[in-house]
Amino acid sequence: MKFKNRYAALGENFCEKTPPVPVAEPGLIIFNHELAAQFVGSLNELDDTSLAELFSGNRVHESCEPLAMAYAGHQFGHFNPQLGDGRAIYLGELERLHGVAMDVQLKGSGPTRFSRNGDGRAALGPVLREYIVSEAMYSLHVPTTRALAAVTTGEKVAREQLLPGGVITRVAESFIRVGSFQYFANQRDIASIKALADYVIERNYAELAQHKNAYLELLEAVTQRHAHLIAQWMQLGFIHGVMNTDNMSVAGETIDYGPCAFMDAYHHEQVYSFIDRDGRYAYNQQPSIGLWNLTRLAETLLPLFHDDTDAAIELAKTVLQTYNHRYEQAWLQGMRAKCGLSAIISDEEDRALIEDLFTIMASNNADFTLTFYFLSRLNLETDENDHRLLELFSQQAAAVGWLEKWRQRLSNEKQNNEQRQKNMQAVNPIYIPRNHQIEAAIRAAEDHNDFAPFHALHEVLQQPFHYQPDKDNYMLPPKPEEEVTQTFCGT
Ligand code: AMP
Ligand code: MG
Repeated sequence: MKFKNRYAALGENFCEKTPPVPVAEPGLIIFNHELAAQFVGSLNELDDTSLAELFSGNRVHESCEPLAMAYAGHQFGHFNPQLGDGRAIYLGELERLHGVAMDVQLKGSGPTRFSRNGDGRAALGPVLREYIVSEAMYSLHVPTTRALAAVTTGEKVAREQLLPGGVITRVAESFIRVGSFQYFANQRDIASIKALADYVIERNYAELAQHKNAYLELLEAVTQRHAHLIAQWMQLGFIHGVMNTDNMSVAGETIDYGPCAFMDAYHHEQVYSFIDRDGRYAYNQQPSIGLWNLTRLAETLLPLFHDDTDAAIELAKTVLQTYNHRYEQAWLQGMRAKCGLSAIISDEEDRALIEDLFTIMASNNADFTLTFYFLSRLNLETDENDHRLLELFSQQAAAVGWLEKWRQRLSNEKQNNEQRQKNMQAVNPIYIPRNHQIEAAIRAAEDHNDFAPFHALHEVLQQPFHYQPDKDNYMLPPKPEEEVTQTFCGT
């Protein structure tokens, strides 16, 4: 195993070289052998003690040049010129057997120059949460950072109360954020913006390098990735919760899992995050916030587009103006697949049909995931399975009416029931990381040092599209007393 570090080579104003701060007593909770097997080297041959030492930061591999990255960001719309890795340490890139090298980072690994008043640590709960949700996102085919390892530290961290500490190791195509570019734009440091853009192109968008205006192409590629990413979030009822520009990856991966959540009952304006008091990052705001963040990225790149600012702005606009259409198309395509509509007949009519479904789901408190799960098991000719879907709706008549329209629409399809169901079941998960299940796993680990519920939940979520016997409790929405109405970032 050998870490490369092309980021460190960018220079001192990009980072602070700093080692992780050792923890008292590292203990391995979980190691992602499937992910580790993708890397060149023999990570999978290490024993648990060595893995715990390595992924707590207690031992730093000799090829590592550990560092904390500098970045800025708009937090809830307010610009903060200096954020940076306040509790993360970048270890470098690991070569993979296939595909591009991946970046590896510890989170919860001790204070850095960018910690401001924070302790540089992570509590065990958020570590488990990020591990479960990011790996579930991967299994749901959503671009995401992945989790390589989670360890306990044997130390307490002080939040509202004393909590057990943890460290998570994350792997990403890139840890460069929109805020990374903002950091240099705020300093009017165009040379560094260019160096960072060149680094991102070399690492993540190599196919753009030869283009005449590669930087504009970069903005376009990032725009495309985020339009698709956010469409996928919307199709699964995922709410990121903190779409600050420092939490938006230029590689188009879901990153920085904090107070994120999957919806149970569908509500357009759903917010779970305790700190999102005005609903800036509510479910239905996510597509437009995506564009807002991309516009902040475009602003930083203007000097690279053209020497003349007005000309540069016009160029940026031509790209940003494509976002809404790209998003709408990605959304419609994905939603059609979820509803079993493969024949392209009328965009407007399909959109109206799908929006009708969401309207009645909202007014009837229907569970997001189960609605599509049961829909993907219905037949065209008989209503014998309809009752399972109808039971999700407080007033079944509305859903009966919608199913009639849906069957009408399906009669224009060439696929038979079996084909359609198979295709629908490949995109409509049975299991998602439900808040109350995550909470139960965290409670058991934090309060009783019992990691069995964490492992069990994680295992079910690795095959979200496959029915697993005896796992029905993971597919059910919470009972009223189990419902989690607020989530916290745990910082
Ligand atoms: P987040 O809300 O997790 O995206 O974090 C926002 C900023 O606060 C980032 O710069 C983090 O590195 C920093 N931060 C969050 N929690 C801590 C902590 N416990 N110690 C130091 N820095 C932190
Ligand atoms: Mg962050």
